[in-house]
Amino acid sequence: MQQRRHDDIIYFQFNIFSTHPELIHGVFTRAGGVSPPPYDSLNLALTGLERPENVARNQDLVRRTLDLDRLIWARQVHGARVTLVDNGRAPGGFEADGLATRRTGVGLMVKLADCQGVILYDAEARAVGVIHCGWRGNVRNILGRAVGVMSETLGCDPARLLAGIGPSLGPCCAQFTNFDAEFGPAFAAYRVEPDRVDLWALSRDQLVAAGMRPDHIEIMGLCTRCRTDLFYSYRAARGLTGRFGAVAGLRA
Ligand SMILES: [Zn+2]
Repeated sequence: MQQRRHDDIIYFQFNIFSTHPELIHGVFTRAGGVSPPPYDSLNLALTGLERPENVARNQDLVRRTLDLDRLIWARQVHGARVTLVDNGRAPGGFEADGLATRRTGVGLMVKLADCQGVILYDAEARAVGVIHCGWRGNVRNILGRAVGVMSETLGCDPARLLAGIGPSLGPCCAQFTNFDAEFGPAFAAYRVEPDRVDLWALSRDQLVAAGMRPDHIEIMGLCTRCRTDLFYSYRAARGLTGRFGAVAGLRA
């Protein structure tokens, strides 16, 4: 990955997309926005006591940093729905945890605080997807679903797709005290300690099971709970925190 800076905004980019300048993307940190604590500072979601004007200002900072015409996002519900984005969609006006498009100039955004933001791109099909994947998303295999939707409706080939898996709870901090009830025996291989789960390995394997090549997948490997200096962590803040963004779109 590469760290970028635009004014006070700090964001990361995946190396795996570096040979594709037509793909615009960034995984933003909490730096460079206008929100005061505990949402400091680049909070992209209206949550708790946050002020709508701060969120709107932060979203516009993200949009301008990446030079996109507009941003679109969904109401995230930890489901497995992947929605195609066209001009008829209003930001926040629909429920989905995955977004995909072939339109240019539109930044697909997911909002994160411990869950994985996953970006998918097929250069030949000129199609991009951005997925919000928490542990429920893994259990429901939203990543496999996203590869399927992009293949069936946008002309993508799983063997061509590239993926970046962003900062989220690492195997150090993805603690589940009710593993059997929450995951079950099918996921036993991802249990790295009695109460810890390697969600990054699980996501990689789900993408591979959907037909992707292992060497087409980059895991950033930054744990949100360990790095609250950079990211929002729902668990570290016991819920009282903001959301950072993973954004991708096609250059107009
Ligand atoms: Zn950690």
